[in-house]
Amino acid sequence: MGLPEDPTEKSSSATPSSVKPTFWVEVAPPSTRGAKCRLDGCPAIIMPGQYRIAVYPGLHDFRGHQSPDFYHVVCFEKIADFSQADFVNQVQPVTWNTWSFRNLNSSSVLDGNYLLDAGAERLTISWKEAVKKLIDERDGVETKDDAETKDDPSAAVRDLLDNAGSSKYVPQEIAGANAFELRLLSSTLAPNESDGPEDTDEWNLFDEYLVARDDDQKSLDNRHTLGMTLFLWRDHVDKKRIEEELDPKAIRAIKRLAVTPMPDIQGAFLRGL
Ligand SMILES: [Zn+2]
Repeated sequence: MGLPEDPTEKSSSATPSSVKPTFWVEVAPPSTRGAKCRLDGCPAIIMPGQYRIAVYPGLHDFRGHQSPDFYHVVCFEKIADFSQADFVNQVQPVTWNTWSFRNLNSSSVLDGNYLLDAGAERLTISWKEAVKKLIDERDGVETKDDAETKDDPSAAVRDLLDNAGSSKYVPQEIAGANAFELRLLSSTLAPNESDGPEDTDEWNLFDEYLVARDDDQKSLDNRHTLGMTLFLWRDHVDKKRIEEELDPKAIRAIKRLAVTPMPDIQGAFLRGL
């Protein structure tokens, strides 16, 4: 019990229990025996390649070192109440730009382990945004809509995040933006797929898979919106006979977003990190 399932996983010295754990959404790395799910009564092993939640720091020690607790996403949703903002804020995807905070062996990450594919990254972040918006509305919290403020750089960022990949999208200059990140967001991570300017029915990742809808308070009553979203997405990514069921535009989009963006190691090296 409490064994890190991957020998390349770093253990760090004990962290004070006052530290709020992060709920990392990641891909289970290669391992011969998989990882045990910490939900009481869950009989299923988390197999390599599955999406999972790593709670880090976890509640369990291994030889005096803290190791993460792993859960199936749907199992974690049974114990974490994601209709509470505090819990939603603790969710982070393990990606090309967040992995260094997850305390992982960098060579294992650079082999492509742990990192979410582009579709799962965009869906996890959008799930978080949608659920937080619903919680704020429910609780009557005033939020500033940055995108409505003209000349605000965040409006251009929002435009890129929402509209990249659409034939109608016009790239705007974003002051101070990282070129590597901009390139990724406008290519691999773009949520839209288009057949060109004549296309009146462009494909959109969030319309297809995001189960939490930010205009529907009922989404907060469903405990499993993150797990369902990732399940639906993965089901199409894994499907062998996808060609028979989906149109070429959707297949093109899924193949593009199934790719895992890698960290900008060259850029990090040049910046002396
Ligand atoms: Zn489980």
